[in-house]
Amino acid sequence: MTSSNFRDELVHVSALNEFVYCPRRFYYQRYHDEIGTPYELVDGRSKHEEQSRRGGWVRERYFRSDELGLHGKLDLIENDGDVLTPVERKRAESETYFPSDEVQLAGYCMLLETVTGDPVNLGYIYLYSTDERHAVRITDDHRETVREIVRQIQAMSVETIPPLTDTPSKCEACSARTYCMPEETARLEPKRARGTGWEDPDAVSLGGDDV
Ligand code: SF4
Repeated sequence: MTSSNFRDELVHVSALNEFVYCPRRFYYQRYHDEIGTPYELVDGRSKHEEQSRRGGWVRERYFRSDELGLHGKLDLIENDGDVLTPVERKRAESETYFPSDEVQLAGYCMLLETVTGDPVNLGYIYLYSTDERHAVRITDDHRETVREIVRQIQAMSVETIPPLTDTPSKCEACSARTYCMPEETARLEPKRARGTGWEDPDAVSLGGDDV
């Protein structure tokens, strides 16, 4: 990262999710602003002012940790006596959640730990599409994954575009597809597709328009 202000140095927790989905897509989001507002421009400090407490829930809490290199806003925290449990809510048209959602939740748990001083080993993922809440046990593997992704994001540079995804089916609904051009890249520059899911573009079948 090139700037020294904290918004450039800290990784937003939601970026963990995007990076797990496809580092290349995250690259386009981050450096080319192709999809919405870059994460670095999210000013969570103003959100912090909006925090409030109602009953057994804590809402709208902004966290940052220089040590973790993370920041982000937790929309909802269950407050059950002394135990605080983050709740991450997803629209989830697919009616399920993904490993990337678990990593994001782990990031929130780790931020919460920096405030409470206690391990936060449980979080919930609530799916609007099914109205179900799933308990996710946060493990050391989750925590190490979060730390590794933070390291990788902080090491990114505009000069180095990450490789194409290993899972071409993700490209079908990818909002960066028109910029990434995976099929064109694979056909015109096969070296760039080597070792990825696009190594044999004839074997990849995508349908529909970009989202
Ligand atoms: S089109 Fe595929 S390879 Fe390109 S950024 Fe999107 S998911 Fe990644």
